[in-house]
Formats: sequence, structure tokens, C-alpha cells
Amino acid sequence: MTTTTLPPTVRLSKKGVDRWKFGHPWIYAADVEKVPATLTGGEVVRVEDGRGYFLGQAFYSRESKISLRWLSWDDVPVDAEFFDKRLRAAEALRRRAYPDDTAYRVVHGEADLLPGLVVDRFGDCLSVQFLIKATEHRKAMIVDLLQKLFSPRAIVNRSDANVRKLEGLEPEKGLLVGSLDGPVQYLEGHVKMEADLLHGQKTGAFLDQRDNHVMASEWGTGEALDCFSYAGGFALQLALKAKHVTAVEISEAACGLIKANAARNNLTNVDVVTANAFDYLRDTLDEGKRFDTIVLDPPSFAKNKTAIEAAVRGYKEINLRAMQLLNPGGTLITASCTYHVNEERFEEMLDAAANDSKRRVQIVEKRGAGKDHPVLMALRETRYLKCYVLRVL
Ligand code: SAH
Repeated sequence: MTTTTLPPTVRLSKKGVDRWKFGHPWIYAADVEKVPATLTGGEVVRVEDGRGYFLGQAFYSRESKISLRWLSWDDVPVDAEFFDKRLRAAEALRRRAYPDDTAYRVVHGEADLLPGLVVDRFGDCLSVQFLIKATEHRKAMIVDLLQKLFSPRAIVNRSDANVRKLEGLEPEKGLLVGSLDGPVQYLEGHVKMEADLLHGQKTGAFLDQRDNHVMASEWGTGEALDCFSYAGGFALQLALKAKHVTAVEISEAACGLIKANAARNNLTNVDVVTANAFDYLRDTLDEGKRFDTIVLDPPSFAKNKTAIEAAVRGYKEINLRAMQLLNPGGTLITASCTYHVNEERFEEMLDAAANDSKRRVQIVEKRGAGKDHPVLMALRETRYLKCYVLRVL
């Protein structure tokens, strides 16, 4: 005889039930009524309403403000087969969206119905983030499934993100599978890039800007400037068509990446300046230098709601200066990855900057992250990246 033990049960408050029924995949601690004392976090739990009706299954987090993360509305086993199906469904979207590409985000957490998991593919290697206890505790199983699905040369653990602390986990990184003898090469359009999966920022590169990098090549002309350049993702695309590109980046290590990536593509028209982009923009304006194309892609300026105003001031400062630095008819490609500064707020800021710069500005195109970063309709938090193409008259 086989006995099956049911997962533990968590009961929602009335508000929690409404939220769950509304389809929101996160339930906050305040909306949970009863949790078994034995739970330590990371478990799959059955979710029920005040009358004991089964509502579905979720990952439970103890330390986090987000207590429950939706997994299913059905009473199905949440086992290796369950995760395998979700991984394959995620990969199927990327095969449709980017049939010929080998660098893309395979799993975008909640948006791919895999909460707390991020998987980026760079050629024959994978870079993975386990962001909550539930995925951390299932690391071996997930790695095993990824090996079967991709047969990668290496799998790198880049769980050194600070958000882990909110879940009671320490940041962690290292090689999980295979071996890595250095950075991994991949293509962005016609540009050869290299990502250091173990030591680079984020999972090794900013894949969310990949499509926008390639788009930027259309706008490369005359004198171009790429601020907050990291490995030169925008700078090198601009350099394909512009006469000359200046890439500004504060990190010495990242400046080395820009130079190496330029050399790899035989692009000799790229100069790298190690500087604070805020200072560079101000000083260059004072010197009277002008540009035909400028890219601004700063790091997130606000990690929470309280920092929104300061973040908007920061955005306004750099966007105002960039508008003043552009020759008439020049292009400004300006991005923000700050979720808390939404599209409306970002546009208001751009409007104010345009006004202060005494320039007329046209919105040519509004973009976001690539198709490998889908947005879950019920969780708009998964839409964070804004990228505007503006013409400054
Ligand atoms: N544009 C890059 C990603 C940028 S991420 C791409 O598309 O791939 C933000 C970058 O800005 C990081 O490399 C970080 O080191 C750099 N940075 C942070 N503060 C900076 C500052 N004040 N001035 C210049 N660079 C800065």
C-alpha cells in the first residue's frame, strides 16, 4: 500500500482570498491567516480559504513579506515532472521568439510560472539565480533538469543577488556543473560579445537590453556617446555606423570588458573613459562638445518606493544634460530599469527635462526588455525596463 502525505495547508484571510481569486501570484504575510508552526520556508503548501476550500498550491516563504508565490490552481504533484514541464514551456517561447539565437533569458521567474528562478543562457553555458528558499532547496533537482534539457558545458550559480537576504538567504555564487576556462562568447546581432559568468555583473551580462543594443546600431551616426556602458553593449552597436563613440563607465573592470569587446570586433573608433557619468556629462557640456547620438542606461536608482523622488531627480539631471549635449536632430536612447519609476513617471521626467533644456523632443519609439523577458499580466512588477528612442530638435 502506498501512502501519500499531503503538503501542509496555509489558510488565507478574506483579503488574501480575494487577491488569490483576482489572480495575483503573490500573497503578503498580512493576508495569510494560519500557517503551520512547523514550516520553515521553502515548502510547497496547499492554499485554502476561511472555510477550508482548496484554492491551489504555492511556495511558502517565512522571512519574506511575500508569504506565498502561486504555483498552481490544481491539486497536482509539484515534483520534478511539474518543473520540467514549466522549464520546457519557457524554453519553447524563446525558441519561437529567437530561433537562431544562443544567448537569452530562458526563465524569467514568476513571468514563466517559476517563482524565484532565473536562468540565462550564454551559448553552451547557463547562469542561474535561486532567489528564494523554495528554489534554493530544489537546486539539485533544477540543475538536473537543466542538464537534461540543455546539456550545457557549465552551469554557474549567480545567486549573489541582495534580494536573497529578504528571504533569509545569504548571497552565493560558484560553479555548479562542468568547467569554465574564462568568459563565454555570444552574439548580439553582428557584434561578438563576451560575458564573464562568474565575475561579471548580474548573471554575466544585461540580456534584457540585448534587442535594444541591436536596435541602437540603426541610430549610430557622427559622434556618439554611451553612458553607463558596462561591457559596451550599446557602444559597440553604435560604433558599427558612427564615426566615433565614447563609452563612459565607472567600473575599471567593466572598462576592460568594453576595450576587449571592441578589439574582438575590430572596432577602432571606440574610446573608453573611466568616469562618473554625472560628472562626465556636466564637464563635457561646459567644454562645449556636442554629440549626434547619446545612450543613457544607468543602474537602478530606486530599490524601493521611498527613493522614487531622488531617482527621478537623478534621471532628470542626466537626461537634461544629454538633451543639451545633442546637436539639433540628434538621437537620445534613454533607459530606466527602476521598476518604481513607471512609464508615466519616466515620461513626465523626460517632458520636464525637454522643457528645461529649451529643446523640442519627439518620442520615436517606446521599448521594453526583449521577448525573453515576458511580463505576467497579473504581476506588472515583471515589467521594469523602459527604453525610449527620442529625437531632440
Ligand atoms: N548599458 C549596459 C548596462 C548598464 S548597467 C548594457 O546595456 O549592457 C549600469 C552600469 O553603470 C554598470 O556597469 C555600472 O558599473 C555603471 N555605473 C554605475 N554608476 C555609474 C556612474 N555614476 N557613472 C558611470 N557608470 C556607472
